Amino acid sequence: MNKNKTFGIIGVCGANGNLIARILKQRGYNVIGNDLSSKEDCRFAKALEGYDIEVFYGEAPEEFFEKADYIIPPASLPKDAAIFKKFDKPIFELYDVIEKLKSEKPVFGITGTNGKTTTTTLLKKIAYDNGIKPCEHDLEGMQGNAEFIPILQSRLDGDVGILEVGTFGIPGTIGRIVRDTGMSGGLITNITPDHLNDLGSFKDYANVKGEFISELGFGQLIVNGQDPTIMGLIREMDFKGEVITFGVDELPESVGMKECVCGNEIAVKEIISGCGYYFCKCGLTTPQVDYIATNIDLKNRTFDLHTPSEKLTVKMNVDGLHNVYNITGVIIAAHKFLNLPYDKILPSIASFSGVSGRMEEVATVDGKTIFVDYAHNPAGVETVLKEFKKLYGDFTTVITVSSESGETGDKDIFNSVLKYSKFIVPASVASQKVAFNEIKANSELNDRIFLNHIDDFEKTGTLGASEEEVKDGIKKALNLDCDVVVAIGEAATKFKKVIFEL
Ligand SMILES: [Zn+2]
Repeated sequence: MNKNKTFGIIGVCGANGNLIARILKQRGYNVIGNDLSSKEDCRFAKALEGYDIEVFYGEAPEEFFEKADYIIPPASLPKDAAIFKKFDKPIFELYDVIEKLKSEKPVFGITGTNGKTTTTTLLKKIAYDNGIKPCEHDLEGMQGNAEFIPILQSRLDGDVGILEVGTFGIPGTIGRIVRDTGMSGGLITNITPDHLNDLGSFKDYANVKGEFISELGFGQLIVNGQDPTIMGLIREMDFKGEVITFGVDELPESVGMKECVCGNEIAVKEIISGCGYYFCKCGLTTPQVDYIATNIDLKNRTFDLHTPSEKLTVKMNVDGLHNVYNITGVIIAAHKFLNLPYDKILPSIASFSGVSGRMEEVATVDGKTIFVDYAHNPAGVETVLKEFKKLYGDFTTVITVSSESGETGDKDIFNSVLKYSKFIVPASVASQKVAFNEIKANSELNDRIFLNHIDDFEKTGTLGASEEEVKDGIKKALNLDCDVVVAIGEAATKFKKVIFEL
């Protein structure tokens, strides 16, 4: 493509248009932009600062079309729209950007049901601490782990790509991300039931995540070997690349049932939810893992990590057994993908205080310490509350989750909360419904469950609970006789500012 040409991008305030504008500009092309919104309402205007891109806000003027040699329309605008007929300029599409402007850097992906963000954030921190720059999408307030964002992000400036790979449960999307970023390595944290609404069965869900394995080809795959679903998928997909397994040497605390890839229900002696020691008649069993964490001391936040060649002493600055798994995976990724020696990795681990919204201590009100945690699926809630129980004993849980796996998910979440918490304040519509029915079935629960407004069963917004419901829930929890309050769910994390208002 001729660098003197000017690309006119329509929709530069949307994620895709915004990323494409910066990719082209970084690679030396002339770029002008247009968006129907005003400058004040342009969601990602900040990301364009410093790029010397002229943006026409509002209806695109003739000048925009006259200046542009190519037009890049948003995917939502049909190609036969009248506007394109009026100005006869060649159209360059999202797929042309993906095809003609490759990522040209090593790309590593992180996927799984839980721990993706913590793993991605920590691996990037280790990179930055060692002078390696990962490409960033710079879209404020966007998680950006799905659809075309990771694919475009991998094409922005940087030494490496470290990408969180998510899905809205749609088959094909994860595979496309792996393919179109040219990913050469990846990590899978765990795979547990979630998003069952969209996909029907656990196996269908697991298969969507399995695209990550099948599309990685001959790449390097770092996985939690204590997760039977991951290990089963690797076997089923006949993966040809290198598999590196990790695990944690701890006594199992409970037994959970999980569906094996062969279709059998198998018992998992769980170290954390869904992961531990397993054996299936089809031959699938916990492997001897390549990297194992031992001597775990959660109070002092230390553990030993046995690599294939040496023993490391790891000091961490976050809590919980699930973080021992997360950190172990990251150490391997930093060593194998970023090619860093362990002594350059461990100091970054020791100074990592976690991602905001993960077991995050927000404030102390009237002598009561309030935490928020983003956990919003059954496995995530179970894992995190178990850790709170170990660390703090009694606590009150405020539930702001409305599960994506529907009523079964809401019930599973509620049961975990019931198991680990002293008091329960259901603040989301879904949890109030479940709690209401549970109390009806067992009136003794009246002493532990505190319903807010059971008359209002309308789901508000997509977050599970509204700002008002989160505030009400925490207020109620502060009136109960318990010194630790844990507010779980996306809504609690999003609206944590209400805690300061209290
Ligand atoms: Zn099996």
